[in-house]
Amino acid sequence: MKIYTKKQKKIAEKISSDAVISNWKNWKWQIKHSIRDISAFESLLAIELNSDKRKELEETLAKFPLSITPYYLSLIDSIDYMNDPIFKQSFPSPSELIISKHDMKDPLSEDKDSPTPGITHRYPDRVLFHISNVCSMYCRHCTRKRKVGDVDSIPEKEEVIKGIEYIKSNSDVRDVLLSGGDPFMLPDEYLDWILTELGNIPHVEVIRIGTRMPVVLPYRITDELVEVLKKHHPLWINTHFNHPREITASSKNALRKLADAGIPLGNQTVLLAGVNDCHRIMKKLIHKLVQNRVRPYYLYQCDLSEGLTHFRTPIGKGIEIMENLIGHTSGFAIPTYVIDAPGGGGKIPIMPNYLISWSTNKVILRNYEGVITTYKEPDSYEPIFCNRNCDDCHLQLKLDEAEEYRSVGIAKLLCDFDKTRSLVPENTERLDRRNE
Ligand SMILES: *Cc1c(COP(=O)(O)O)cnc(C)c1O
Repeated sequence: MKIYTKKQKKIAEKISSDAVISNWKNWKWQIKHSIRDISAFESLLAIELNSDKRKELEETLAKFPLSITPYYLSLIDSIDYMNDPIFKQSFPSPSELIISKHDMKDPLSEDKDSPTPGITHRYPDRVLFHISNVCSMYCRHCTRKRKVGDVDSIPEKEEVIKGIEYIKSNSDVRDVLLSGGDPFMLPDEYLDWILTELGNIPHVEVIRIGTRMPVVLPYRITDELVEVLKKHHPLWINTHFNHPREITASSKNALRKLADAGIPLGNQTVLLAGVNDCHRIMKKLIHKLVQNRVRPYYLYQCDLSEGLTHFRTPIGKGIEIMENLIGHTSGFAIPTYVIDAPGGGGKIPIMPNYLISWSTNKVILRNYEGVITTYKEPDSYEPIFCNRNCDDCHLQLKLDEAEEYRSVGIAKLLCDFDKTRSLVPENTERLDRRNE
């Protein structure tokens, strides 16, 4: 496929009289000419929606606005657009107004787990840092739909400085995940400044950026941007491809530039009804990703955010997809299927069961073909009592590298040195009776 297709040329000419390839590939031109209303959408794709449908859509847009880059729009099949995965991810649906009683504005409690605006500190050693609340396109399945188009929530520089201060003063944080919105909506110099500030914090070991630019606006990955990013290794990038059709000549080019700059690339896919809820689509997607040096990282169960009911599948669909991947294709191409726990519990991995049974010295397992097999455990294995004093241990970890000294959660129940026997929920009826 060519970098600039005939269809893209046609769309560019309709958008503006300055339609030339160099403008089309200019990310700022793309953002300036983003499609923000239904009439423009119809005219550019030469489609016509009936008037009842339009009225419903206007109501949806009043709540959840529309924005789509000319590039991403150009990928929509204008004949069979109703079934088009790119159309479904970018064009509003009246179903977005259906709110089920389990839906929440902020299902992951990102705002509650926020010690300072912009930071979500959920896990012991890493934080999510929202540095931008704008995107080049509004994904209809956005989990942060509550913030889309909310101009008041664009973080000011002072807010970002406070976030950096928070990270500076928390020496447990070794991994910072820049997210948004899309961090690549920010100017290169500003990103350079944030990355420099974070890089100067001695306990920050890695920085990650979550961006959908390679998918929806690949021209944002300019040589200048890549030069900036290269200065800040170790830097990891996660992007967000959901369907093999999104992997185009232009997006491949963007991925190539990032990979050539030595940036490890990952991908987070959301399982979406009518878009990619099929193991053949998913397999095609992950194969195309690894061909472009992108490691599939997570497959997300769709969150319980308001306005996403029509995108959700049963968990069984995700497990079925995983069953069709594990063993059937390269291990490194397989993402981890996760549910981000409502209420802020973090990501919980799920997959089919492979462990069938267990005795004192044998484990019964099944493989992807249905072969049932046994693994004989060692007759002698001397468990070493671990008191977290690495000086006493022969595994050769120097003490100054063994900084974490406490156990958390289930790991705490497993460890030797902590006396905790059980994790008990607060306010059980039984415990309330004891207190009476
Ligand atoms: C997903 C997420 C992370 C990173 O989790 P990993 O499993 O390390 O990728 C960190 N903080 C928050 C709040 C998250 O949602």
